Amino acid sequence: MLSFYPGPSKVHPEALDFIRDAFDQGIVSINHRSTRFEALLKDTLGILHEKWNIPSDYTIYFVSSATEAWEIVAQSFIEKQSLHFYNGAFGKKWAHYTKQIFPNARSIEFDAQQSLSEISLPKLSEIDTICLVQSETSNGTGQAIQRSLYGDALIAVDATSSMGGIELAWKEADVWLASVQKCMGIPAGLGIMICSPKALERAKQLGRKVHYNDVLLMEENRKRFQTHYTPNVLCIYVLNQLTHHLPNIRITHQKTLEKMAIWETYWREDKRWGLECLIDKPELRLPTVLALKGQPNQIQQIQTHCLKAAIELGKGYGDWQSTTVRIANFPSHTIEDIQTLIHQLKHEL
Ligand SMILES: *Cc1c(COP(=O)(O)O)cnc(C)c1O
Repeated sequence: MLSFYPGPSKVHPEALDFIRDAFDQGIVSINHRSTRFEALLKDTLGILHEKWNIPSDYTIYFVSSATEAWEIVAQSFIEKQSLHFYNGAFGKKWAHYTKQIFPNARSIEFDAQQSLSEISLPKLSEIDTICLVQSETSNGTGQAIQRSLYGDALIAVDATSSMGGIELAWKEADVWLASVQKCMGIPAGLGIMICSPKALERAKQLGRKVHYNDVLLMEENRKRFQTHYTPNVLCIYVLNQLTHHLPNIRITHQKTLEKMAIWETYWREDKRWGLECLIDKPELRLPTVLALKGQPNQIQQIQTHCLKAAIELGKGYGDWQSTTVRIANFPSHTIEDIQTLIHQLKHEL
């Protein structure tokens, strides 16, 4: 089965060798307080900084998922009130869970065809944390993150389906979060949170150390190259090896754009499925997840047609469940994979 689902998705084929290595070398059994683990974590943080061009003063943490990271943002960083901007299901869920912790959390829902810079802001004086979604996987929108729009509030960004596939503007935000089963092409079970010095400063000022996953406890552990809980060491090892193996994110970013251009051309030209891009403006399309809209029967037909060739496309999500289909364009998806899918799409119905 070739999966174009936008997560979990196709795993990098090299991951199998790395998983085997991890077994052979006993890495799957190491203790997270051992010197072997510390060496692995130190090397992993180093190679991520290097290959993803992460500023040296930003710190990286492993958590269990992007969803957990949403909760950590609320527990460790929001002082009194957050403001959530969203145009899709993931941003909405993030706002919902934050409201369980801070009932006064505010949210602004905007249209999927709009960019964040077009949204007028309420008075920001009461708001200390802004929560944005860079990669709205549910509808395939991608946003440019611009710190200058939000005064001096702390900015937290969900980049779950773009981190590892495009170069992110790290300095434009203070907390970046993601999971490995999307753009990183690794089996699910690990999340990543990347924090600015300003974020840690806020956490120190709030001084919250009540949850096992408060960032202050995570930071104490990180300094010793340990983690605050028993992490998914196998995933960390696979991420380590893959990151060593893959080129710099700038090169991956270029490839992602080139592959997305193949899709955009294909869907402009081939009208047999009656589908078109859900997002009108190319600059608002997420380069790593393409959402296509059509009639429910056409959507069903294309899904079934691809499944016959053991190719899985992403189902529609939330409000777009029956009228869209999504195609992941992650680094694990090669041009050959895209050609395989295009071949199937052109195949007689
Ligand atoms: C998948 C996804 C999540 C949730 O990721 P989990 O690994 O299930 O926690 C959050 N935000 C976005 C944008 C996603 O695509």
